Amino acid sequence: MNINTTLQRVACLRSSSTTLTAALLVCASCLCGTSVWAADTTSDSAAATEATSPAAGSPRILVLATGGTIAGTTDPRSAIGYNSGNVKGQELVRAVPGIEKLASINSEQISNVGSQDMNDEIWFRLARRIQEAFDRNEADGIVITHGTDTMEETAFFLQNVVRSDKPVVLVGSMRPGGSTSADGPGNLYEAVEVAASPKSRGRGVMVVMNDQIHAPRWITKTNTTAVQTFASPNAGVIGYVDPASIRFVAPAPVLASTRDVLSLPANGHLPRVEIVYAHSNMDGAQIDHAIADGAKGIVLAGEGDGDASKEALAALDRAAKKGIVVVRSTRVMSGFVNRNVEVEDDKRGFVVSFDLNPQKARLLTQLLVANGITNPGKVQQAFSATF
Ligand code: ASP
Repeated sequence: MNINTTLQRVACLRSSSTTLTAALLVCASCLCGTSVWAADTTSDSAAATEATSPAAGSPRILVLATGGTIAGTTDPRSAIGYNSGNVKGQELVRAVPGIEKLASINSEQISNVGSQDMNDEIWFRLARRIQEAFDRNEADGIVITHGTDTMEETAFFLQNVVRSDKPVVLVGSMRPGGSTSADGPGNLYEAVEVAASPKSRGRGVMVVMNDQIHAPRWITKTNTTAVQTFASPNAGVIGYVDPASIRFVAPAPVLASTRDVLSLPANGHLPRVEIVYAHSNMDGAQIDHAIADGAKGIVLAGEGDGDASKEALAALDRAAKKGIVVVRSTRVMSGFVNRNVEVEDDKRGFVVSFDLNPQKARLLTQLLVANGITNPGKVQQAFSATF
C-alpha cells in the first residue's frame, strides 16, 4: 500500500458514518493518487473532491488560510522532513471527506507561511478581514488554518483585537499531508464543526486541535513533535469535539462583542518589546542591550515566580526608570506570577503577567503600548482584564 492510500484510509476512518458516501468517493479518488493531503499540489485540478452544496440555511463558514504544517508537504531531504505552507486553503477544505455537509464553506488565502514567519503585516490583514467579514455579515463563523508554532500568539492577538461574539477557530496539524497518520483532515473537519455550531456562539476565538477546544489565554504548545501538543496548563480545555459531538466544559467568556478591544496601530507595526530569558549567572547585559535598542517594553521570562538575579533586576530598574514597561513573566510552564512576592513590584514600578506566558505577555504589552497605555498600574489592570 502506498502512502497516499494509507493516508486516505485514515481520513476515511475519521469521517462520520453520515458522510460515508462522500468519504468513499474521496477514498476512491485517493486510490487513483489524487489526494491533496498526500502530494505537493498547487493547482485546483489536484483536488480530491468538489464540495457539494450544503442544505439551504447551513451555517456560512469562511476559511482563512495562512499556511503551517497543515498546508505542508513532505520533503525527501529526510524521513521526517517537510515544508510548511505549500498547499492552498481551498484544496485543504476540498480534501476533507464530509466537510461540505457541515456548512457552506468559502476559502481565502491570507498568506502561506510557516507560522515561525508570522508577522504584524499578516496579523493585521487577518484581523481586518475577520472584522470585515463579521461586520458585513458574510460569515457565521471563521476557521483559520495556521502553523502550530505560533498559533497561541495569533489566537491571543485576535482575541484582543476582534470585536464579535461569533466563533473564530484556529486549527493546524503536527503532521503534514503525505505523512503517516496526517492529523490535518480530522482537525480541519472538527474546526469547521465547532465554528458552525450554535453552541460556539458567544465564545469568540478558540483553538481546535486533536479533539480538544482551547481558549487563547490558556493554550500553549507543549511538545515539539507530538500530535497531542497543545495544553492549557492553568485552566484545562474548554471543550471536546469529535465528528459526532461538541461538548463545552467551561462557561463562555464575557461576550467579545461587548468587551473592549485594542486598536491596531495605523503605522502597521506593533512597537518593539523584547523577551529576556532568565538563567543562572545572569547579568544585566541583555536587558541593557534591549534598552539601548529602543525597546518600549521588556518581558522577563523569569525563573520560578518570575524571578531573576540581583544584576538583572537592577537592569530592569534602569529600564522602568526610563519609562519602559517592565513585565515579569515566567519560563515555567504553569502557575501564576504574583505581585510583590520575592520582587517588590510596587516599589520598582514593575508589572506581573499572572498566567500569561512570555510570548503572550509580550504581545499584550505591544498592543497596550500601541494604544498609549504605559502606566504600570493601567498595564497591570489590562493583564488581569483579558480573562
Ligand atoms: N513550523 C510549523 C508552523 O508553525 C509547525 C506546524 O505547523 O506544526 O508553521
